[in-house]
Amino acid sequence: MSDLDDFSKTLPKLETVDAEAIPGGLEPGSGSAKLKFGESTGRKKNIPKGLWTKCGKCSELIFDKDLDENLKTCTSCGYHFPISARARLESLIDDGSFKEMDAGMASVDVLKFTGVASYPSKLERYQEKTGESDAVITGVCQMGPHKVALGIMDFSFLGGSMGSVVGEKLTRLIEAGTKGKIPVVIISTSGGARMYEGMFSLMQMAKTCGALAYHADAKLPYISVLTHPTTAGVMASYASVGDLIIAEPGAMIGFAGPRVIKDTTQAELPPGFQTAEFLMDRGMIDAIVPRNEMRDSLIGYLDFLSTGKTKPKARRAAKKKAS
Ligand SMILES: [Zn+2]
Repeated sequence: MSDLDDFSKTLPKLETVDAEAIPGGLEPGSGSAKLKFGESTGRKKNIPKGLWTKCGKCSELIFDKDLDENLKTCTSCGYHFPISARARLESLIDDGSFKEMDAGMASVDVLKFTGVASYPSKLERYQEKTGESDAVITGVCQMGPHKVALGIMDFSFLGGSMGSVVGEKLTRLIEAGTKGKIPVVIISTSGGARMYEGMFSLMQMAKTCGALAYHADAKLPYISVLTHPTTAGVMASYASVGDLIIAEPGAMIGFAGPRVIKDTTQAELPPGFQTAEFLMDRGMIDAIVPRNEMRDSLIGYLDFLSTGKTKPKARRAAKKKAS
């Protein structure tokens, strides 16, 4: 059982989505997808472990090196596996341009919360597991011709839940964007607000949106990128207020999980409910962009949204780099 399974089972039903309600589980590619070729049966003992991963959608066996090179998307059907915030960061920015902000900021246990395990022990475990201090990394970077304030959430840290640190880091990032007159891009993945911090988590919804309102007043662009899954308090705040809202293919996006909605409304839900494609058809999101086209697409959108603000020379240089 993975830590995420453990996490989803021990969470009370505040602001969270349960694993069974999400197509493919909380971690896309979990379950059958994580089956390694070498450990699938006892008969193939001479095949080294960890070389192949089975795709959760098309069942194709993918060489792990190819999977990494393809930014954790299936080389056969395009299925998007989970990816760490750091790996995503590397795929988006100009090499070596990331100036991280508030890297050491970590949560404190204001409520003295104890469930199955204490909140500090959970934090410690996930900090060790992911090498991150909390569920988001933020900083200023260069993407082609654009200087961008970039925030990337990491689902593998406590389900990408939004506590005071996630809210504060993003707010500072947005404020740095406003001060520096640069666009903000936030890549979200989250099960919602972090129940271990109670009301302090919920307050982050208003705080981040307040900072974005000042950023918008300054006529600066904000692009929100939704990845699997983006739900609950995060979807109900900064993730859904982008000037442009784009999503990765197949991402589950919503507030409550489909099973909760079905039980509450007692209605049959339409096929594809709460997927990126379903929401695209209904105008909730503006574009679906595969992970390995994300950098070029973001640069294109920023070109469009910042017309006249970047120097033509810089734009040409970026084009050269991309080709
Ligand atoms: Zn596949």
